[in-house]
Amino acid sequence: MAAMAGWRSAARTGEETLPTDTTTARREPTRSAASDAGPSRRGALAALFAAAALPALAPSSARAAAVAGAVRPEDEGFMRVALEQAALAEFPFGAAIVVDGVLQAKGHNLGRGDPTAHGEMTAIRSFIADKGPAGLKGATLYTSGEPCSMCMSAIIWCGIGRVVYAASIAELSTVIGQIQIPCAEVAERTPFATVEITGGVLADEAMALFRR
Ligand SMILES: [Zn+2]
Repeated sequence: MAAMAGWRSAARTGEETLPTDTTTARREPTRSAASDAGPSRRGALAALFAAAALPALAPSSARAAAVAGAVRPEDEGFMRVALEQAALAEFPFGAAIVVDGVLQAKGHNLGRGDPTAHGEMTAIRSFIADKGPAGLKGATLYTSGEPCSMCMSAIIWCGIGRVVYAASIAELSTVIGQIQIPCAEVAERTPFATVEITGGVLADEAMALFRR
């Protein structure tokens, strides 16, 4: 509870202490670089942005329908790894990186000691420390919260091909301060990369961590 009080306070004061994620989806049917702007892509992106504007606790089905990347059978299992990481953190954000169906790295938010140590960042740094950066290309990153603009940029720079998140930035904003830039928008404004984004996987469980 003390931890909760701490982050709530940070949110009220406008601090961006928490790092967390955000997101959206794209790649398959749509999203990606500016060069492939077809009708379906535009439609998916519009849906994503619309989703970001949804009232905070919209039904999971509504969120799922708004994302461009379909949920895959393995997603819940790996999301639970990210949620387990989130449960370890003062600010409940956790991430897991999967390559070819195998868990390769995980991490969680390190709190106020390092404002850049969001769950996605710690997972990425752990992966690179152990294996180098090359293996991140095409990897899937699972995160309890939609990646913030910092983390989404890092994800793109690392060549990660797919992002799966639980709670959206809109949902997270009901409990903690968030930079209001959907991860899909960061991807959309990146002409050299394509990232598939799927949101809303176990979002209710992720949000429950903030109510502990
Ligand atoms: Zn972040």
